[in-house]
Amino acid sequence: LKITDSVQDTRISVCVRKRPMNKKEITRKDIEVVTIPKQDHVIIHQPQVRVDLTKYLDNQKFRFDYAFDENADNEMVYRFTAQPLVNSIFEQGFSTCFAYGQTGSGKTHTMGGNMATHETTTKTKQQDWSKGIYALASCDVFRLHRGEYRSLGLTIGCSFFEIYGGKVFDLLKNKNLLRVLEDGKREVQVVGLQEETVTSDQQVLDLIKRGSDMRTAGATSANSNSSRSHAVFQIILRRGNKLWGKFSLIDLAGNERGQDTGSSDRQTRMEGAEINKSLLALKECIRAMGRNSAHVPFRQSKLTMVLRDSFVGENSRTCMIAMISPTMASCEHTLNTLRYANRVKEL
Ligand code: ADP
Ligand code: MG
Repeated sequence: LKITDSVQDTRISVCVRKRPMNKKEITRKDIEVVTIPKQDHVIIHQPQVRVDLTKYLDNQKFRFDYAFDENADNEMVYRFTAQPLVNSIFEQGFSTCFAYGQTGSGKTHTMGGNMATHETTTKTKQQDWSKGIYALASCDVFRLHRGEYRSLGLTIGCSFFEIYGGKVFDLLKNKNLLRVLEDGKREVQVVGLQEETVTSDQQVLDLIKRGSDMRTAGATSANSNSSRSHAVFQIILRRGNKLWGKFSLIDLAGNERGQDTGSSDRQTRMEGAEINKSLLALKECIRAMGRNSAHVPFRQSKLTMVLRDSFVGENSRTCMIAMISPTMASCEHTLNTLRYANRVKEL
């Protein structure tokens, strides 16, 4: 697998990652319906029944910049998605990387790593935790900061927050509720957002762990809050106090939650509507960015509002990783995810 010129040069790349079957799915003898025959192809084999009751497979083919099968690890996925965007933030750019997909498809595993699933002692923590894109990108930022871009004299900071029900909460500071303000120059500020200066890989790893724990605190099941919230991890470069560049890495709310708009529970319905709105707005903003449009509809949701800088700048680049589950039970959600991802690329 090679990094193609198109991914190096384009402002928008869209990739797919299929997760492996888990124990439960294997025990249940769930059927796999996703194959990745080539590095940029995904085929969904949806079992269908004809009018005369004969069965057949309806094969739907999709094409993306890259498609990763169940054998790809986080480092591999990182190398072809977020890593090509790291350099730009040193060139005063704004980069974003989104993990999109249904709950349980692997968004948090890909972005945060799988530390949450490992209960370990401090001694084994390091070896056991496989890094996700937050950590891998941070390590590369430090590497470039100490190397190639040393003479710029930048400082590195991190912030980590969550958007839930259209409200912003600080994951590095007691889940404080934060206000989002747009000033006269159309600059968007998250007022009071904690930004911690970091000087080593270890510091960032600790910070990611702290924020991730804060995000899932109190959550119990697949219906937990984290599936209904967007988590935004940002690596911020500054020269003096002045913002120089920013990398935003986003673990989006489960896209199936956007369909909860018909729920009988008022709270769930409102959350569903908010998620639906933000994912639609996100798609429109990325497409506007791809067209170099002067009008980016960033005000349509909190998510797109806080990412405004990243959609409007000339030096903005983005990458979306669409996560998919392999089984037949998830087929409809998987098709929704692939269709959405496809639309993001259309100008
Ligand atoms: P999401 O954040 O999209 O709801 P998670 O990242 O929490 O999904 O993944 C659900 C479960 O599947 C977790 O236990 C996670 O560790 C596991 N998982 C997800 N992707 C992979 C993968 N590529 N390889 C191994 N396990 C995975
Ligand atoms: Mg998650």
